[in-house]
Amino acid sequence: ASRISTEWAGRNVSYFHETDSTNTQAKKLGEEGAPAGTLAVADRQNAGKGRRGRSWESPPGRDIYMSLLLRPDIRPSDAPMLTLVMAQSVAEALREQTGIDARIKWPNDIVAGGKKLCGILTEMSAEIDYINYVVIGVGINVNQPSFPEEIADRATSLMLEAGRTFLRAPLIAAVMERFEENCSLFLGTRDLSGIQAAYNDLLVNVGEKVRVLEPGHEYSALSSGINKKGELLVQKEDGTTEAVFAGEVSVRGI
Ligand code: ATP
Repeated sequence: ASRISTEWAGRNVSYFHETDSTNTQAKKLGEEGAPAGTLAVADRQNAGKGRRGRSWESPPGRDIYMSLLLRPDIRPSDAPMLTLVMAQSVAEALREQTGIDARIKWPNDIVAGGKKLCGILTEMSAEIDYINYVVIGVGINVNQPSFPEEIADRATSLMLEAGRTFLRAPLIAAVMERFEENCSLFLGTRDLSGIQAAYNDLLVNVGEKVRVLEPGHEYSALSSGINKKGELLVQKEDGTTEAVFAGEVSVRGI
């Protein structure tokens, strides 16, 4: 067993051999009044989810599927920043534990060599000005030796990148430790000023041309990193700078 040195993140763990999705389980725990920091972990998901209802490939026994329950005292409109706090924490943990050059694709993916190693999906239950709970789901491809054809050119695993397998428990502990620290920086200022520089250091596509896809409108621009609200700053061809909000658009490298 591996030790976890956090105060609250991941100290209370609900383990599932198989489940629909760990986000669904963590939301259930949230409804039942489980404390902040409760972590739902599964060995296998049969309905793993990405953003916009897309599915997350979740074969049994090899990878990490986990969802952290939070009850942050912030405004609901600030909750999307937690996705970036988690992305930073996963990237740091994977770099320190594996030596792989894990980087961040804004806002929510961790990539190596341009391929996706990890996806993050944040969901919340809130009133207009009050958060009941937030669930941050994290799927990390750890020991997957290959991927289905449809995503083989876009997905990778720690094993494929490092040429060896990894134990999952120490990786989970490292992510929780990094998250607890980064989250306390975030809660101190209620923005990303404490991690902004480190996040931008790990960001891919900085200084490169990206395509911004807004509903009904798309354009190319130069990406230059996040601001303290977690918006991606891009410079348009007419020279103006736009702050792109994660909830509304996806950005693709071209
Ligand atoms: P995109 O990666 O398409 O720009 P996104 O960041 O919103 O968008 P998510 O919704 O987080 O992506 O993840 C779902 C997508 O990730 C799926 O549509 C599929 O392309 C890809 N995918 C699914 N399972 C895996 C996996 N195990 N590893 C890597 N990528 C996966």
